[in-house]
Amino acid sequence: MFPWKRFLETLGAASMVAVAILAVPGAFAQLPQPLVSETTLKKVSDHVYVLMGFPNIGIVVGTRAILVIDTGLGARNGATVVRVAQSLSKVPILYLTTTHFHPEHASGLQAFPPNTVLIRPTVQQEELEKLGAEMTDRFRNMSAQNKDLLQDVELRPPDILFDKELNLDLGGVTARLFWLGAAHTKGDELIFVEQDSVLLPGDIVQDKLIPNLSNNDASAKSWIADLDQLEPLHPRLIVPDHGALGDASLIARERAFLVDLQDSTLELWRQGKSADDAAQAIAAEFKTKYPDWTGNAVANDVRRIYAEP
Ligand SMILES: [Zn+2]
Repeated sequence: MFPWKRFLETLGAASMVAVAILAVPGAFAQLPQPLVSETTLKKVSDHVYVLMGFPNIGIVVGTRAILVIDTGLGARNGATVVRVAQSLSKVPILYLTTTHFHPEHASGLQAFPPNTVLIRPTVQQEELEKLGAEMTDRFRNMSAQNKDLLQDVELRPPDILFDKELNLDLGGVTARLFWLGAAHTKGDELIFVEQDSVLLPGDIVQDKLIPNLSNNDASAKSWIADLDQLEPLHPRLIVPDHGALGDASLIARERAFLVDLQDSTLELWRQGKSADDAAQAIAAEFKTKYPDWTGNAVANDVRRIYAEP
């Protein structure tokens, strides 16, 4: 039996959910339970599998190597991901990359075998070193379950760093790892498996989840520019880090939301409203305007746009 099952039984699943919802601050309130389960495994194309959960974890399988995209929250989830990856193929090389430095994407590293080849954009690695510990503490304080999952996080430096782009030949299939610029964080990485026309965009493209400018280096302006560069890829399938999978139309929808948010914010800025007043007004307006979008990051996003040069 997995320890987390005992944990759930002790506390009762319902109270765990309540604890998680009450304890989660602002922008993360929409997040579901942070457990990855092998029962959610889906094959979505010839070479790409996805574990659906928090977060969605992509696994690209070639004849020579496997690429795992994101670790799950803490070592216990990381171990599940490794087990699933190894069950898909016995190839000798295991690559791991992370879409950004947030704990549900990067903190399960220690569960991966020591010969795992860890790859990251340089800018993401720098951001992790600067902000990772503080963000992990924030996640620990969200719930008893998170605290348990994140009790002893051990990180190590990447084996390969890249600036903008890295093409990874996995044998019979190539994964393009790339960084376009700041968006949800400064170091957001995307992965495109061109042969299967599958894009794994991290948190940059999602299905009606309110985009979250999560720190001072996040940028709405740059996020919109990133989306413009994604448009020509016309992916058949998009596998976001959170929420439902979708087609290329998610890119235009994400862009339209961000442009609307940016324009609405700049309009109030021009009128001389304070950041807090604008945040409150636009959060209320967008609740009515986008009733089926989940999350509550709008007020915070408005403050970030005010602060953007
Ligand atoms: Zn994130």
